[in-house]
Amino acid sequence: MRVVFAASECTPFAKTGGLADVVGALPRELAKLGHEVSVYIPFYSRVRKQIEGEPKYVIRSLTIPFRYYNRFVGVVDGGRHDNVQYYFIDAPELFDRRELYGPSGGEYTDNAERFALFCRAVIESAKLIGVPQVFHVHDWQAALIPVYLKTVYAADPLLRGAATVMTIHNAGYQGKFPPNTTEQLLLPWDVFTMDKLEMYDRFNFLKGGLVFSDMLTTVSRKYAEEIQTPEFGEHLDGVLKRRAADLRGILNGVDYSLWNPATDGNLAAHYSPESLAGKKDCRADLLHAFGLEEIADATPVIGIISRLATQKGFDIVAKITEELARRDVAIVALGAGDPSYENVFRNWAIRHASSVAVRIGYDEALSHKIEAGADMFLMPSRYEPSGLNQMYSLKYGTVPIVRATGGLDDTIEEWDAVAGKGTGFKFAGFDPNDLLAEIDRAIKAFGDKAGWTRLMLNGMARDYSWTLPAQQYVKVYEEAAQRRA
Ligand code: ADP
Repeated sequence: MRVVFAASECTPFAKTGGLADVVGALPRELAKLGHEVSVYIPFYSRVRKQIEGEPKYVIRSLTIPFRYYNRFVGVVDGGRHDNVQYYFIDAPELFDRRELYGPSGGEYTDNAERFALFCRAVIESAKLIGVPQVFHVHDWQAALIPVYLKTVYAADPLLRGAATVMTIHNAGYQGKFPPNTTEQLLLPWDVFTMDKLEMYDRFNFLKGGLVFSDMLTTVSRKYAEEIQTPEFGEHLDGVLKRRAADLRGILNGVDYSLWNPATDGNLAAHYSPESLAGKKDCRADLLHAFGLEEIADATPVIGIISRLATQKGFDIVAKITEELARRDVAIVALGAGDPSYENVFRNWAIRHASSVAVRIGYDEALSHKIEAGADMFLMPSRYEPSGLNQMYSLKYGTVPIVRATGGLDDTIEEWDAVAGKGTGFKFAGFDPNDLLAEIDRAIKAFGDKAGWTRLMLNGMARDYSWTLPAQQYVKVYEEAAQRRA
């Protein structure tokens, strides 16, 4: 099949979270299956920096109309890698900025215009370069593609056959803007109704995508169920329930060419299930990087890598930092985002400098070192659509401690020391006491060396590669194309 991916992130070009990992890996897996995939992302300044020499334009100028003016957009050839073609939408006045979405986990005020322009530019560019059978759009930033296709582009003979699949990577980010966004983006007012993209008197990008796409997917089976409930649906549960027959939960995969302790170029040593010795060197290297060389071998090290947002559950961690300090455990954390959570982490490290070390920022290489060097990995998420770090942790023999939600619940099986079965530790209530009790269980299990090795090996044996998910996506594309026909 011919498929166009449209997304706001894609590794290795631009990443803030798991979306980038998925948009980086899935197209290559689809290409391996013989499908023709191209990927469109915005030409952010950090993408521009990765281009050698002058950008090569495949399209010099597309006209993207707004209410009182036009913008003129170029399309840069991002090259062909592993049989996937990349295109970058170039609109310097909107994308040549330091951040993808806004400063310090916040939002640029013109995000509606930025990502609406991106959506229209993908459509216009596909008309010239090649219309796919399926537009596969990701999250709110690409959600207006199905909306435009079924409204202002509905009569276009070139686009009429193109189906749309929308993937929800996180229902907590919807792209909500004032009602007059409708006019500014040149959409007819009749889309601004409760059954289309209006929600509580706001213009809602994600809701538009959910209503107008032919098929919907989200990134785990559990999250597909959760978002149909008021607790997790973020007010979209009604729409999602109405579209339940068209919604599939497909778990994210892991790109093992990037995340494998036997080959990972960021590590001090390599290791595998057959030979675990290198993990000790990785641990020493990690403790050195964080200035925690004094931590004893018998003390477990808990790693954290996260966007620091309410979703990730660090408010319950903040409530147990003093209790944790009384345990024999060390913490290494890497994260950035909401300044209030960044301060929680900074204060934690200041108060307990001998056992807690924190790096505020985004650091790809360090994230690999933490996956390899820690003994345990903590993800106490309030909700977690798929979660990738717990799957990376399994591969690295770093035992996950997770809250039983979304993809975390689907991928982690509670350790049963008697049967020698399970891959991690999982608590149900979003409650500091439940979290602490689960960490205590993990610390206790760490004391039994033979049991712990079994637990590590159980996790390392799990296979979360993209092979199966890619086949599941192809099925969804076929269903979408049938519906369109
Ligand atoms: P989300 O997409 O909600 O952020 P995921 O677990 O799906 O959560 O994916 C997070 C991805 O982002 C992982 O690849 C993780 O390693 C990476 N990541 C998150 N924060 C950082 C950071 N501060 N530095 C480096 N990598 C990070």
